[in-house]
Amino acid sequence: MSEQPRVLVTGAGGFIGSHLVKYLRARGYWVRGVDIKLPEFGPTDADEFELLDLRRWENCQQATKGVDQVYALAADMGGMGFISNHHAQILYNNSLINLHSLEAARENGVKQYLYTSSACIYPEHLQEETDVAPLKEADAYPAYPQDAYGWEKLISERLCMHYMQDYGIETRTVRFHNIFGENGTWDGGREKAPAALSRKIAIAKLTGNHEIEIWGDGEQTRSFCYIDDCVEGIYRLMQSDFAEPINLGQDRMISINELADMIANAAGIEVTKKHIEGPQGVRGRNSDNSKLREILDWEPSVSLEEGLTKTYAWIEEQVKGSGLNMSAGR
Ligand code: NAD
Repeated sequence: MSEQPRVLVTGAGGFIGSHLVKYLRARGYWVRGVDIKLPEFGPTDADEFELLDLRRWENCQQATKGVDQVYALAADMGGMGFISNHHAQILYNNSLINLHSLEAARENGVKQYLYTSSACIYPEHLQEETDVAPLKEADAYPAYPQDAYGWEKLISERLCMHYMQDYGIETRTVRFHNIFGENGTWDGGREKAPAALSRKIAIAKLTGNHEIEIWGDGEQTRSFCYIDDCVEGIYRLMQSDFAEPINLGQDRMISINELADMIANAAGIEVTKKHIEGPQGVRGRNSDNSKLREILDWEPSVSLEEGLTKTYAWIEEQVKGSGLNMSAGR
């Protein structure tokens, strides 16, 4: 229809990917979505959707044919419960996906390639206190990520950098800090803290038992960014000419206990927190958004309260629809 670039979104069956497809379609792009699974919570908005396992080279060749831009979101990932228990699987699967996707994009003449990295690449020793200094992009080195997930992301960041230097494909690299929102995984073991707590609080509200379990003492800190800001930021980064890694997140740091209270507030109930043993990740983490503001002249603006209210409402509906019959229990 227009001279808009033709776009591939990998991981288009997942949380951020399905929102990004919708965003790009609304801007008039022709979009191919690729994933190993269909979107879980509704039909895709993509012009074309292919079910492909991107660990396989020939599937990456097929996926990247005839497109100008790639947004590379496919990954074997989840919250701390998943990431801290599947190191080998994550390193193996995500390495294959990223090596093959980028090389196939190069071979097929893709002009721009945006890679989705993570705050998990930052060294563990900078994140040992709850009241940590926000992480700047340059803090990534000397490298010491906590988990295999972060190590793989860091290597793939470097792969993008070298492909740009050696082959001229224009790469972009974004480091997300805890993205949350509707249509994200909320049950089954891969869900992240905002979704897991929303599920627990929805169950508490619906059953009348207001005790919820929290992993660790709940004083561990993070920042959380709503999905609408995330896709806006990804899009703006692709339009920019900035090729180095850049943070994308909110810089409002709160504890997991505070997060639970905010969600309970959105649910209109009070909860009692039972602190139990469980994987917590690093002790504290926040995003330094100086570069984001400088480069994109923009930063996330949806408040945590607003984002959590929308997300909670959606998850409460999912919990009701499931008849409280969930695999991850409480
Ligand atoms: P998600 O799990 O919802 O989406 C990832 C998608 O990749 C899934 O739909 C999955 O089926 C697909 N996938 C996995 N293996 C595949 C394969 N072999 N072939 C094809 N597709 C495959 O996760 P998300 O939250 O939407 O994350 C998107 C990207 O952003 C990922 O690269 C993730 O590591 C990164 N990220 C996300 C966050 C966050 O807070 N959500 C934080 C940091 C980084």
